[in-house]
Amino acid sequence: MSHYFGIDIGGTTIKIGLVSEGGEIGVRRELPTRKGADPTPVLQDIRMTLEEILAEEGLERADISGIGMAVPGPVTDDGILHGTVNIGWGDVALGQLAQKVIGISPVCIGNDARVAALGEAVYGAGRGANSMLMVTLGTGVGGGIIQNGQILMGESGVAGEIGHMTIDPYETESCGCGKKGCLEQYASATGVVQRAKRLLQEGDEASSLRHLPRMSAEDVWAAARGGDVLAMQVVDFAAERLGIALANAGYIVDTERIVIGGGMSRAGDFLLNKICPAYQKQVFPHCRNKEIVLAALGNDAGVLGAAALVQKGNGKHSEKVE
Ligand SMILES: [Zn+2]
Repeated sequence: MSHYFGIDIGGTTIKIGLVSEGGEIGVRRELPTRKGADPTPVLQDIRMTLEEILAEEGLERADISGIGMAVPGPVTDDGILHGTVNIGWGDVALGQLAQKVIGISPVCIGNDARVAALGEAVYGAGRGANSMLMVTLGTGVGGGIIQNGQILMGESGVAGEIGHMTIDPYETESCGCGKKGCLEQYASATGVVQRAKRLLQEGDEASSLRHLPRMSAEDVWAAARGGDVLAMQVVDFAAERLGIALANAGYIVDTERIVIGGGMSRAGDFLLNKICPAYQKQVFPHCRNKEIVLAALGNDAGVLGAAALVQKGNGKHSEKVE
């Protein structure tokens, strides 16, 4: 039976899973991400953990069919990671370097949002669909396009980067990427909280959010669900802009299904009931029935997607050494 290591490298934590052919995570580990300009120490940390897992499970390196890695930065088809703001790495041929340090091949790498989308496509809410657009509503807004089990990479590695689609060219505040008016500024957890705070500051309308010492996007969605008028304005605004982005994306890729994930997707059907009409308002009538569903894998999407990178031959940048 084939085993894969799925590795999700985040800015603070690295999640590692020993994944079976069928997508079960048999062993899980988490380790802190060492920050710095050199990826080698991080890869050495990963190597040690993988060796521990192999020893515990009575497996050899040769029993592993490959390693998939999700990384928080743009990755191009040539296997180059073009920097990670969160960790401090510059441009690096990460797959090749990882194979050298860890000694298992092949190593496949991909951008974290795109890899999570692949995980959902192969093992989660995208199963059975030929094509899928995933949008991750977290601290930022990520995205990925999957067609027939393959990530659409694009020439510069930004295909599916829906969070930085310009929604409002007249916005005066800047997005984290340096542009102004990106979807992320309106539809991310950060954007939702900022807008709620601004509305609270600008008016003196009664709102249950006014008395919270620290406000999260979850609080805003909960208040909106409870009928809080100000919170409702905030989530309607976010949903409207997300609807515009999904419709615009549809005019380019027209996927069979749209999957909504990330922390904010915990607002569940209430969130979908806001997004769907906002999307339908922006598309041709015959596109209105597109399936828009919630992600199914939660925090496992990265690790499973990373394993799926190897299984599906995505982002394969180092060959199996026999
Ligand atoms: Zn942006």
